[in-house]
Amino acid sequence: MKKIPNQIAMDGTAASGKTTVGKIVAEKLDYLFFDTGIMYRVAAYGANQKLHDVSDEAKVSEIVENMNIELQNDSVHGVTNVLLDGQNITDRLHMPEVDKIVSTVAAYPAVRDALTKQQRRIGLQGRVVMVGRDIGTVVMPDAEMKIYLEASPETRAKRRYLENLSNHIESETYEMILADIIKRDKDDRERTVAPLKPADDAVIIHTDEYTAVEVAQKIFDLMG
Ligand code: C5P
Repeated sequence: MKKIPNQIAMDGTAASGKTTVGKIVAEKLDYLFFDTGIMYRVAAYGANQKLHDVSDEAKVSEIVENMNIELQNDSVHGVTNVLLDGQNITDRLHMPEVDKIVSTVAAYPAVRDALTKQQRRIGLQGRVVMVGRDIGTVVMPDAEMKIYLEASPETRAKRRYLENLSNHIESETYEMILADIIKRDKDDRERTVAPLKPADDAVIIHTDEYTAVEVAQKIFDLMG
């Protein structure tokens, strides 16, 4: 008999497949899929819209603390719409401009504090697959299952490049994406608060050789 964990924490480096794999696992279990990266992207996008620069930590933090972020599940199209102060900004959150600034904003302690509180509230409801960088270490340290996905920067850049092409985002070359991924991983690993790292009790899965469906299967196999 399978023992299905109530909370599944899934962390990993940029473009390691967390979202694709997490969605497959959540759908099969009929769990909520929650991508915390989206929240940091909204924070970065919103602050940048207002300030045209995100280097002022105090101003960025104040803006993020007062943001009204709404997530609406569109089950017909299988997407989550993100509303910032009532405006649908979903299709702007994966633009290269946001990729470039998001890890700066995510390193600000007051920003993390505000977003972590909301993520914990959602995690406590259970039956959730939550993906990010610090879910197993900080947001849901008591999760019954913790997964950490890893792949080489080249594999991840290639996957993101192809994904961008299919979403008609063509402004970045493979080399630009690779450089962004390497920089974001470095920023995320080296920040003082909630750095990117596997929890001590996480299962680390290297995904270079596997499809998302195969990785999801490995996760189900871990459930016994
Ligand atoms: O997962 P995604 O690539 O969309 O995340 C964007 C950025 O948000 C990451 O590079 C990281 O800086 C930040 N992030 C974070 N903690 C999380 C999720 C994302 O710091 N739990």
